[in-house]
Amino acid sequence: MTSIEVPGHDIVGIRAANSGPFTLTGTNSWLVGREPTWLVDPGPRLAEHLAAIEQEIARRGGLGGVALTHDHPDHAEALASVRQRYPAAAAAAARGDVDVLLTGGSRFGPLDAIFTPGHARDHLAFIAGTAALTGDAVLGEGSVFVAPYPGALTAYLDGLDRLRRRDLDVLCPGHGPLVRDPTTKLERYAAHRQEREQRLVVALAAGKRGVEELLDEVWDDAPAELRFAARLTLAAHLDKLEEEGRLPKDVERPELPGLSWV
Ligand SMILES: [Zn+2]
Repeated sequence: MTSIEVPGHDIVGIRAANSGPFTLTGTNSWLVGREPTWLVDPGPRLAEHLAAIEQEIARRGGLGGVALTHDHPDHAEALASVRQRYPAAAAAAARGDVDVLLTGGSRFGPLDAIFTPGHARDHLAFIAGTAALTGDAVLGEGSVFVAPYPGALTAYLDGLDRLRRRDLDVLCPGHGPLVRDPTTKLERYAAHRQEREQRLVVALAAGKRGVEELLDEVWDDAPAELRFAARLTLAAHLDKLEEEGRLPKDVERPELPGLSWV
């Protein structure tokens, strides 16, 4: 069990032992403040992880509420157990069976919700003081995948901008280490998307039309286990070009399974 101290903030991260290509070293659950403390992303339902969270809640004088950045299982699976254990603590998310439905601009305990869609269409980040808990909008390392739905990529870039306009000194991501230079990271994330788009535009101009050849050309750095994520993000990039009237007519579009979780 790894705990992550956030210097200068009364926030601690607890990393779950669910490492993988999408979760990096595991999901980070965050506890903000004390008497009571507020939990962001309870994480996967792993006994050891839940025990570590409970211990920290006790140390911090009880739980005020629990908020989800989004409802993917690696962030939300343990919500039911936490609610059972702390029935008085309010639960909040942008969707699902919770006490409080949040949108960008909502306040929940010490948390300011910021609309950061793209990875999920109702993804939220939370700001507490000058720290942002970014879920899967921004990770500690690597890049996130953007889920393909109409407007996803443009909405994602707008979300990064909303974060960039805030006065932040640290990002506490859903996966990976703390980000101590938020402005640089957020600018790099936006630049990374623009760079992919530029490479995609070049590949299309060179006559590439098939999904596999576009992936080979534009996502040549993606390891095999992230090829699926690259397909999703390619689909989102093609959608964006189409929305902007910049997509040639005969481009093959990725076939994607039903993405009910987007
Ligand atoms: Zn995640």
